[in-house]
Amino acid sequence: MYDVIVVGGGAAGLTAALYTARQGMSTLVLTKDIGGQAILTPSIENYPGFESISGLEFAERVKEQAERFNAEFRYEEVKGIEAVDDYYLVRSNMGEYETISVILAFGKTPRDLNVTFLERQGL
Ligand SMILES: Cc1cc2nc3c(=O)[nH]c(=O)nc-3n(C[C@H](O)[C@H](O)[C@H](O)COP(=O)(O)OP(=O)(O)OC[C@H]3O[C@@H](n4cnc5c(N)ncnc54)[C@H](O)[C@@H]3O)c2cc1C
Repeated sequence: MYDVIVVGGGAAGLTAALYTARQGMSTLVLTKDIGGQAILTPSIENYPGFESISGLEFAERVKEQAERFNAEFRYEEVKGIEAVDDYYLVRSNMGEYETISVILAFGKTPRDLNVTFLERQGL
């Protein structure tokens, strides 16, 4: 039984895990990746304290910081969450986990427009 399960390993989920783990709460992060949307950018320039850092490096640093306080990470996709008595059952594509609380930080997934791009001729 975990104290907290965080769904999502983007900036929000990583930060949440850092905070809960640092408070001594047993914390499991279930995520499809580390960094979420931030890993799509080579340069973050608006994060206080960093002149410029890649999204990937930023995410890895926060993950390591959370791990120093014993946060656990598993690369799994959450498929469902069920309230059971006084706890939650979180189901992923790889297993089931019990937790007292859940933090949802699954962010955004872009929707493919399925538009065909035609090259413009003669410009
Ligand atoms: C190209 C680009 C450049 C950007 N540059 C900047 C910048 O320079 N500065 C800035 O401040 N912001 C920038 N942003 C915005 C920033 O990346 C987002 O605001 C931030 O990533 C949002 O974090 P989040 O944790 O809320 O969500 P997300 O980053 O969307 O993370 C969601 C996480 O949840 C996981 N997830 C989703 N569904 C499930 C599931 N069912 N089970 C398990 N895991 C799941 C995903 O895999 C992901 O890890 C940029 C965004 C993009 C796309």
